[in-house]
Amino acid sequence: MLDSLLSDANQRLEKALRYVTLCEDAIERLKYPKASLTVSIPVRLDDGSLRMFQGYRVRYDDSRGPTKGGVRFHPNVTLDEVQSLAFWMTFKCAALSLPFGGAKGGITLNPKELSKFELERLSRGYIDAIADFIGPDVDIPAPDVYTNPMIMGWMMDQYSTIRRQITPGVVTGKPITMGGSLGRETATAMGAFFVMQAILPRFGLPPAGTTVAVQGFGNAGAVIAELLYRAGYKVVAVSDSQGAIYASQGLDIPSIRQFKESSRGIKAVYCQGTVCNIIEHEVLTNAELLTLNVDVLIPAALENQITAANANDIKAKYIFEVANGPITSEADQLLEAKGIHVFPDILVNAGGVTVSYFEWVQNRNGLYWSLEEVNRRLEAKMTEETEKIWAIAQELTISMRTAAYVHALNRLGEAIRAKGTRDYYVN
Ligand code: NAD
Repeated sequence: MLDSLLSDANQRLEKALRYVTLCEDAIERLKYPKASLTVSIPVRLDDGSLRMFQGYRVRYDDSRGPTKGGVRFHPNVTLDEVQSLAFWMTFKCAALSLPFGGAKGGITLNPKELSKFELERLSRGYIDAIADFIGPDVDIPAPDVYTNPMIMGWMMDQYSTIRRQITPGVVTGKPITMGGSLGRETATAMGAFFVMQAILPRFGLPPAGTTVAVQGFGNAGAVIAELLYRAGYKVVAVSDSQGAIYASQGLDIPSIRQFKESSRGIKAVYCQGTVCNIIEHEVLTNAELLTLNVDVLIPAALENQITAANANDIKAKYIFEVANGPITSEADQLLEAKGIHVFPDILVNAGGVTVSYFEWVQNRNGLYWSLEEVNRRLEAKMTEETEKIWAIAQELTISMRTAAYVHALNRLGEAIRAKGTRDYYVN
């Protein structure tokens, strides 16, 4: 296998391999990324100087279709990280039965250090550098950490300039006027909500009275908190990078979103806003939020939040991973031993890539769907795959995480086998 960054993901894969009869060819193929590109991007800064940026694009596996995955702008981006994220995307797309393989991209930088003009030149420069590596039938980038619809729009525009053809299907997560899909911005949270709706009744947890804590109040966390609030769940705690707030009788999530959107932190809502006059609350740390005595915990911020160090303190009975990789594999085992049910990222947060798929379909057909149509199809997809993974977990008596990998591996194995394997040629 590749390197240490992939080892956590691989441990989960190793576990799943015990439950599938995968041909040797498939196991061998899935050990290595199909192609990894490293590029240097020259950018003219506003002060006239030239700065070089390091960028990457990895296409991990395309057995099931063109590769798909986001582009991350972050100081910690390395080729290793991009390869492991591309590996994860391969399993996520297969678990959801999207006709895509997995990919990922990134540029190593702190985007907050660049002006908007510099950010545009960098985004266009990245596409200049990788244009021959991507395409609507080859590899389709999307937003990820610190990239957004406007950046996707610049990228699509640059690719179209290079090809001399308007090519909306080369990038997803674009602004609506440039071929984006309605519902894309809320898709991750909406998808997670549909998974929860399919799962929680099986454990006899109706919305009223079910307590929820959400870590992270960004694009994914704030929207899932509001969807749950509106569905009647008792969202008792939310947090952002500054800290958490808790109210045992439940928080007024729409008001908190309103304050947060006017750029105040979560704490500020309760210290300065009108809400603090009507709801008693406590200010907690993020670490305290994770160990609250709630029914459902939703990590929706960062990776590696639940580790061997705090897994034994977790009191929630159900964890839905909206963030990518919030639980380490070591912690996973401790949680499983405690009887805590973990619903994995490759299923729970797959609503984003699912609506990206819908965007790509709409771009290719030139026929655009209403928000109701997008959400109806998203609900059908998320519910169907949740049921299938649930059935595998029950049948094999394994965790939902291992079941999701088994489900994805079965599909990947089938695609690799269809092209002929040793068994076909030798026997
Ligand atoms: P975002 O940047 O919009 O929000 C992140 C939130 O986490 C912010 O509220 C931030 O204040 C908070 N945060 C940062 N550090 C924190 C800390 N130490 N403790 C608590 N909160 C902290 O990002 P997002 O798009 O909401 O993504 C969140 C997670 O969901 C990431 O893991 C991302 O990979 C995953 N995800 C997002 C999407 C999507 O479509 N947005 C899709 C799939 C997966």
